[in-house]
Amino acid sequence: MPHIDQNVKLDFKDVLIRPKRSTLRSRAEVDLNRSFPFRNSKMDYTGVPVMAANMDTVGTFQMAKALAEPEFNMFTCIHKHYTLQEWEQFDKSASDELYSHIAISGGTGDLDRLTEVIKSVPRLKYICLDVANGYSEHFIHFVEKVRRHFPDHTIIAGNVVTPEIVEELILKGADIIKVGIGPGSVCTTRVKTGIGYPQLSAVMECADAAHGLGGHIISDGGCTCPGDVAKAFGAGADFVMLGGMLAGHDQSDGQVIEKNGQKVKEFYGMSSKTAMEKHSGGVAEYRASEGKAVTVPYKGDVAVTARDILGGLRSTCTYVGAGKLKELSKRTTFIRVTQQENRVFSTGKE
Ligand code: 5GP
Repeated sequence: MPHIDQNVKLDFKDVLIRPKRSTLRSRAEVDLNRSFPFRNSKMDYTGVPVMAANMDTVGTFQMAKALAEPEFNMFTCIHKHYTLQEWEQFDKSASDELYSHIAISGGTGDLDRLTEVIKSVPRLKYICLDVANGYSEHFIHFVEKVRRHFPDHTIIAGNVVTPEIVEELILKGADIIKVGIGPGSVCTTRVKTGIGYPQLSAVMECADAAHGLGGHIISDGGCTCPGDVAKAFGAGADFVMLGGMLAGHDQSDGQVIEKNGQKVKEFYGMSSKTAMEKHSGGVAEYRASEGKAVTVPYKGDVAVTARDILGGLRSTCTYVGAGKLKELSKRTTFIRVTQQENRVFSTGKE
């Protein structure tokens, strides 16, 4: 008989964070930097743990440079479609510091390419192993194999949404687990397959499992506004990964086009028809189900958006009395709600 889990599982839209007494006077007092030692690579990380997704249009070299600026100190998982030559070119202009803020990405078919690039670009420290279905045995073996090949690199692996597989991937050599199946802005997995897990609950349950083993997690997908980023950290995410919120900028790939008199940029899922056509079948297996292609309003320099996201996050910390981002989850009490913002004058998301 099919099993039904009767416990209610929640998304960002189902909760708000309860304010708490605070001694902080202004959001300028809040430190968003975090430092982690990684369980398997034994490397250390320090930075503001908000990440650009390894999507064609978002995980670009330009994005990495902009987000790694000291004002932001953010991270970028570089998409997997750059050639060895492009990596070599990038390497010439990249500082050592930048390599603490980027990962090279690949799927199960990419070990040779990863090996080749890492050999030529030895300053790379992070490897992001990303597949649609992190539950497949094939993927788990792949993570083990990559760990054997690269004992000192920090390995990000996903995507999954339940604690038992988080533990398994960590024990097989991954340091950071990417959590999220179906919440993405251009993802159609839930529509095409019926598979998924409400993101806030997935993050809470997976963070608990990972932290028990000294591992870390990324909340990947589903953030629509800075408040959602704060909720993901409040739920226990060590990192939060963003696709749609970072699309449409100067640093995003693609041309600015005019549509109905508005400047827009294209943004698409990694397994959308658009992505598959662009890479001539190269990503056909990236996601089990398709993604969407959309246009998003052109938003100019990503610095403005990054400031807005980090400003929101600092403000959340002041509302709950967290002087450091590290304290946010300890000081978070979620309340279940039936309404988010008042939409009488707009959608509320400018
Ligand atoms: P967003 O921040 O836009 O809500 O979510 C970004 C995340 O969506 C990515 O990091 C990735 O995990 C997921 N994603 C990107 N492209 C696709 C796709 O084509 N299909 C699916 N199922 N997920 C995608």
